[in-house]
Amino acid sequence: SDYVVGLTGGIGSGKSTVADLFVARGVPLVDTDAIAHELTAPGGAAMPALLDAFGPAIADAAGALDRAAMRRLAFADPLARSRLEGILHPLIRSLSAQRCQAAAAPYVILAVPLLVESGSYRERCQRILVVDCPESLQIERVMARSGLSVEEARAILAAQASREQRLAIADDVLVNDGERAMLDPQVAALHLKYLQTAMKIPK
Ligand code: ATP
Repeated sequence: SDYVVGLTGGIGSGKSTVADLFVARGVPLVDTDAIAHELTAPGGAAMPALLDAFGPAIADAAGALDRAAMRRLAFADPLARSRLEGILHPLIRSLSAQRCQAAAAPYVILAVPLLVESGSYRERCQRILVVDCPESLQIERVMARSGLSVEEARAILAAQASREQRLAIADDVLVNDGERAMLDPQVAALHLKYLQTAMKIPK
């Protein structure tokens, strides 16, 4: 597909929930988080370079990336973090571009948690859809899901783009500040709009 809708939002905003609703309507989803997991699964394309850079201690018994070990290393050592990103990010960028291109549909959803923070993904999107909710709700959802403390949840939010920065680059905003049931009607309306716009683009 030549029409790429970038889907983003802060942690706990409801990106995955919204992505699922587009998938339920038959829209192909390219998810950079899922690609990162694929690349670091046993036999994943990033594993040889990661083992080379960090040694066997960063893999678990099955040969997948040991996420806890990698997270500790990346937090403790900024150089390790940038080496990790230097290996993973180009692979995620090229695989996601390939899959968007290959998707046989009028448009494709490209889910990128840090889309606002990353110019290269922004450039690739015809449209940017931001899932928005108040930060207090993000914190509630993150705490409920992961058992993090309020301080830990706040620290994660503080490391991301702000709600205002996200809204500033949004072409469309999907409001997720209440019942889950409010999402599908918004997805239905956006789906119609994206189909109409995408099918008008000359090939
Ligand atoms: P992350 O960035 O952490 O991956 P996300 O933006 O993909 O999060 P989701 O996983 O969709 O967000 O939602 C975060 C949590 O909040 C999930 O447990 C989800 O079930 C819940 N949730 C999402 N939307 C609502 C809602 N409207 N009402 C109640 N719970 C919700």
